[in-house]
Amino acid sequence: MNAPLQAKAVKTTCPYCGVGCGVLARPDGFGGAQVQGDPEHPANFGRLCSKGSALGETLSLDGRLLHPMMRGPAGVMARAPWDDALNAVAKGFRETIARHGPDSVAFYVSGQLLTEDYYVANKLMKGFIGSANIDTNSRLCMASSVAGHRRAFGADTVPGCYEDLDEADLLILTGSNAAWCHPILFQRMLKNKRERGARIVVIDPRATPTSDEADLLLQIAPGMDSVLFSGLLAYLADQGVLDRDYIRDHTNGFSEALARARHIAPDAEAVAEQCNVPRERIETFFAWVAATRKTVTLYSQGVNQSAQGTDKVNAIINCHLATGRIGQPGMGPFSLTGQPNAMGGREVGGLANQLAAHMDFEPGNVDRVRRFWDAPAVAPRPGLKAVDLFDAVAQGRIKALWIMATNPVVSLPRADAVRTALGNLELLVVSDVVAATDTIRAGAHILLPAAGWGEKDGTVTNSERRISRQRGFLTTPGEAQPDWWIVSEVAKRMGFANAFNYASAAEIFEEHCALSAFENGGTRDFDIAGLGTLSHEDYAALDPVQWPVAKNETNGAKRLFAAGGFYTPDRRARFVAVAKPKLAAEPGRYLPLLLNTGRIRDQWHTMTRTGKSPRLGAHIEEPRIAVHPDDAQSFNIEDGAFARVSTLHGSAVLRVAVTPSQRRGEIFAPIHWNGETASDARVGALVHAACDPISGQPEMKATEATIAPVQFAMHGFFLTRKPVDLPTGVWWARSTVEGGFGYRIAVPSSNTKHWADIARDLLGNDEIYAELLDEGQGRYRAAIIRGETLDACVFLAKSPQALPGWEWLKQQLAAPSLTEPARRALLAGRAAEAGTDSGPVVCACFGVGRNAICRTISDRRATSPEAVGRELKAGTNCGSCIPEIRRLIAETEAQPQPQAV
Ligand code: SF4
Repeated sequence: MNAPLQAKAVKTTCPYCGVGCGVLARPDGFGGAQVQGDPEHPANFGRLCSKGSALGETLSLDGRLLHPMMRGPAGVMARAPWDDALNAVAKGFRETIARHGPDSVAFYVSGQLLTEDYYVANKLMKGFIGSANIDTNSRLCMASSVAGHRRAFGADTVPGCYEDLDEADLLILTGSNAAWCHPILFQRMLKNKRERGARIVVIDPRATPTSDEADLLLQIAPGMDSVLFSGLLAYLADQGVLDRDYIRDHTNGFSEALARARHIAPDAEAVAEQCNVPRERIETFFAWVAATRKTVTLYSQGVNQSAQGTDKVNAIINCHLATGRIGQPGMGPFSLTGQPNAMGGREVGGLANQLAAHMDFEPGNVDRVRRFWDAPAVAPRPGLKAVDLFDAVAQGRIKALWIMATNPVVSLPRADAVRTALGNLELLVVSDVVAATDTIRAGAHILLPAAGWGEKDGTVTNSERRISRQRGFLTTPGEAQPDWWIVSEVAKRMGFANAFNYASAAEIFEEHCALSAFENGGTRDFDIAGLGTLSHEDYAALDPVQWPVAKNETNGAKRLFAAGGFYTPDRRARFVAVAKPKLAAEPGRYLPLLLNTGRIRDQWHTMTRTGKSPRLGAHIEEPRIAVHPDDAQSFNIEDGAFARVSTLHGSAVLRVAVTPSQRRGEIFAPIHWNGETASDARVGALVHAACDPISGQPEMKATEATIAPVQFAMHGFFLTRKPVDLPTGVWWARSTVEGGFGYRIAVPSSNTKHWADIARDLLGNDEIYAELLDEGQGRYRAAIIRGETLDACVFLAKSPQALPGWEWLKQQLAAPSLTEPARRALLAGRAAEAGTDSGPVVCACFGVGRNAICRTISDRRATSPEAVGRELKAGTNCGSCIPEIRRLIAETEAQPQPQAV
């Protein structure tokens, strides 16, 4: 029975990247929802990328944490009443503070929290516990941008807006694979290129889908962005392209910054040499920037996640200040934030080195916040930043830790050491939407079920300072509660009832607005006084709005700083004389390669939501390592085989993708897989913890590493309706498929009988419908068919050619009934009999596979993404796959008779 869809869609905001796209969600009455882009939201005007489009597939309650849980005396987790769990958290923190002082406890929070959640967590820690030991996983993604903004502007201000990307004539993307990581914004840039002729320059050590669309790629040596932008500053000065009036009227420190820039990179030749890029390309880049006033420089994790990240940000900002290209249509430096509410966290003080409402720990600010909160013990100094915080846990200095909505055992550098450290804690509290994560398994004592996307209610701020509402449209399941409620209840039980007596997110937002305006008088950038008078009904209906929003105003400011007005004491921007960059890692010192890490197109963070979507899981189904062909040869690594990637901190076994997109000596691995989704692929465990000295952001883009081949004797697939526990020694990667779970597996020995016994145990011995064990050929296959439906199957073979197509196999699990040819092919277990395989999914929106696209390109002479789109619809929705389709066209045209894989 189908319930009618609710007629009126709920306007909310995507919970993934910092683009902050508006979403219309129509609940289906069964706990799910149809999702589409909100045509009225100014971030996306109705478009959603592959991840946003699949939000409706991530709402199931599978794996949800639905009740508070507490670890009993025997070490077993058991369901507990909310009251008991909250009392235990409050008591644990209170007693730890009484024994060891306020700095013995900490919160580690997340850019997934809503601003209201963040606000109360920060208020409790910094205002009432009296420590600033609250830091956020946003430390890992944009702390260097915050530090760079504060050095240059005196405040953490993004000067521009998304409209600048539509109006610029030159778009420089540095350290950003926006085509995959900020797809909707990248589509806006491509539209600008298509319709207005804007040029796109990509600066990245890797060739990426973003650079596939660029007019110029500078594939620079890792960490050398400051050299490039120092060279650019010197060039702009030499060419007389400076805005002398702007420099004179609105800035300080230009001469020192220019002298330092000339010292680091006096000319294009010096830049080319240090960046390891042909000089002609550097000269082209410089000439384009000099000639193009409407220039936007966008930067993301490649700039921020660096031991010199803050300097990189300031080297970029220096060029914009020197040319006066800031705060005007189509120009400015632009930090692309990684998370949906990284900016909201910055606003309330989610970072350990910020107090609240963009105030720091200067004594006047501490006193102001103390008076506003009527707080007993506002922290007088910054707390521990993420990496230091977990080091303090390891050293026993932090004894009680509350982790909210994040999974540091996967995402932090040296993640194995983080896991060990968590085991030392006297009290580890985790509030989350999921019941099992690597962090929870590391020894949580108390689990608190949090409301998820679609259930919770509050605000988020995107990369252009735009505050949007996230609205609930689903019934909160089980006993889950909003994070702000959980924190407030603990605060009350710690004796702070008067300050945390909130009845709704709206009340918290009102207080947040009031603090932003409190004794502000134009001295602080973050001022949303104009939103502080909203009634709760107005808050519920709030349209997206950019801050600042002055008192008695309802609209915010699009752009800032065109006429100066910075937030330094003399209201002038500061040029920064940046240091000559040097990576923390030295390839060849201990290990020969550099490991870079990052995101892929269709997964988000540790996959707790995107991992539920079959179509998102179908794009890249295994954790992999990208290797340059020369390195593959040197290290005896083959494309499609396995390799162990090792650093001084840990190792992982990943599928090899040999590609000229990598620079020689550099390898790249995605960050998403974890202990729940793969046997040996927690890449965070490999990453070193070298941090930027100012921002505290770790350099996750360049860790010394090595690589070696790993041989497996047999390979295969396992498809089931429910997750299974595969034994140690089996390499596996799990993805959600239609109707169940798919495991791609590899085993270390060719003892076929041994693996057949294990498979039978996993399948359930009594239920196997058909089975073949061929020890001579090294093949095993078995299937369970219930009625007309495939219920589970396993295929193992020495030779991959003896396996059926993976996509075809998944289709059989999803099929309501097996056709006779499919049943025969399944039991024969040979690829040749298994029909046409569409190959790995390229277009997640319409589920179009690589092989289908290649066939269309060669058979139907489809030589443009538009032509492929007309035939298959691929690329006609969100557009995220267009660079990949373009690449397939180029490859197929170069090789007219492609072999379907
Ligand atoms: Fe969500 Fe994609 Fe928009 Fe980012 S670009 S907010 S992931 S829909």
